[in-house]
Amino acid sequence: MANPETIQTCARLLQQAGRMLVLTSAGMSADSNIPTFRDKDGYWRNFPPFKEKGLEAQDLASPWAFRNELPHAWAFYEWRRRNANENEPHEGYHVLNRWAENRDAFIHTTNTDGYHLRSGCSADRIKEVHGSMWRLQCLDVCSYDFWNEESVPLCGLDHEKMLASDYPVCPRCNGIARPHILMFGDGEYTGHQKQEDNFSDFIRKAVDLVLLIGSSGAVPTNDYIALQFHQGGTPVININLDSSANAIVNTPYFLVMKGKDALTQLDEALNSL
Ligand SMILES: [Zn+2]
Repeated sequence: MANPETIQTCARLLQQAGRMLVLTSAGMSADSNIPTFRDKDGYWRNFPPFKEKGLEAQDLASPWAFRNELPHAWAFYEWRRRNANENEPHEGYHVLNRWAENRDAFIHTTNTDGYHLRSGCSADRIKEVHGSMWRLQCLDVCSYDFWNEESVPLCGLDHEKMLASDYPVCPRCNGIARPHILMFGDGEYTGHQKQEDNFSDFIRKAVDLVLLIGSSGAVPTNDYIALQFHQGGTPVININLDSSANAIVNTPYFLVMKGKDALTQLDEALNSL
């Protein structure tokens, strides 16, 4: 729990920030019940058929799996699409969108659940650096195209055996389609040039404040972006439930809280300044 004084200090930083970069990771969507599968035991409890075969999350989230274990690979993503569809973006997402109404704000997220866009964040104000489960691309990359596919259900799914059927196909070559997500050992993810250009444009000008939310040591992409800004003199507010999560950035503005709680409390403090 962060002390009220730190919340006040951070609210003042927010009040003064005309240009704000928001870096979100697993801890942000965890508050909406989106599992991260970083914990192997939790993942195998959810999916006994994968345990029997010794298939870890990294094994299934790979182009290799889409070629060699296709029914399991699509089942894993179909399960995640259904899970994301059954839950919804929490209040913290809406707080960020409100803050973006009177600031120049940009979201850089490692999450693939599409929750920022679903919560109404502007499409030209986000970079989903690991892609999105709501877009697809050709498994054999017959072109660099990707397309939106938001149907739920998308595949057939045998929950018991975690086997999918009726896979989506590429509209160009009629081959198998895969999620437009940067997977493990993935040299075939086609990326999102427009989002990358928008991000490069945003950081070309000075940024007044960086928010680092729910980053995990396992995937420290956002920590290192935050560190660069911190070293350049931009204040960084780090929000993380894990008290050891400030080791990389080492900012004085560290709130040991859930993303959702920190954002709603900061919003209250900001409104009463
Ligand atoms: Zn194709």
